[in-house]
Amino acid sequence: MAATSRGTSPVPPDVRPRLTVLSGPSGVGKSTVVAHMRKVHPEVWLSVSATTRRPRPGERNGVHYFFVDDEEFDKLIANGELLEWAEFAGNRYGTPRRAVLDRLEAGEPVLLEIDLQGARLVRQSMPEAQLVFLAPPSWEELVRRLTGRGTEAPEVIERRLAAARVELAAESEFDTTLVNTSVEDVARELLALMLEVSGHRADSD
Ligand code: ADP
Ligand code: 5GP
Repeated sequence: MAATSRGTSPVPPDVRPRLTVLSGPSGVGKSTVVAHMRKVHPEVWLSVSATTRRPRPGERNGVHYFFVDDEEFDKLIANGELLEWAEFAGNRYGTPRRAVLDRLEAGEPVLLEIDLQGARLVRQSMPEAQLVFLAPPSWEELVRRLTGRGTEAPEVIERRLAAARVELAAESEFDTTLVNTSVEDVARELLALMLEVSGHRADSD
């Protein structure tokens, strides 16, 4: 299918914004899809998470993550500043609460890219949120992407693959699955899901 979302188009005013959560196994392409959304659809507000992980080459503080140390992360938790948080492959990640709620109150669609545990926590605290699972075309392709990224040590890749096996089994908990064969197609489909008016999907009525 050809990608159609090439330009920057504003979010139409007649649609009801809501919180959308994008989740899926490590290496499936979540941050690639989010980076594409950032470029092609800057009108979609993306939550920036706090993490105790070290920045990868090219990652910028305040853009890709807020990079914090353990002590700062402890404070964010203690002060109730996180909407949800989880430990993933040896590091902690959390969604700053205030920014997300402000955007939703302002009527803007909001996208969170978080892990499975975080998606479950959001479902509990905000049942109206839409949960989207990003799936790989195959297990072999997932292993290839995770290994090919070249940013993790072998033992970290092993830990992430072990987590991915568990995460793949959770697909049925999500409202929708998008298979990441083409980043452009996924971004276009994700935007369409985010802008759905009534909360009823045409294919589920
Ligand atoms: P995640 O954020 O889910 O851990 P990344 O976005 O870092 O995953 O992607 C993992 C690797 O897969 C990267 O090298 C990225 O370039 C590659 N990738 C992502 N999407 C696709 C795709 N649709 N086709 C081929 N490679 C992809
Ligand atoms: P990475 O280290 O590859 O950037 O992210 C590792 C995992 O943490 C990914 O599955 C990503 O979706 C998840 N993640 C990123 N930010 C958050 C967050 O704020 N909360 C939760 N629960 N997971 C997050």
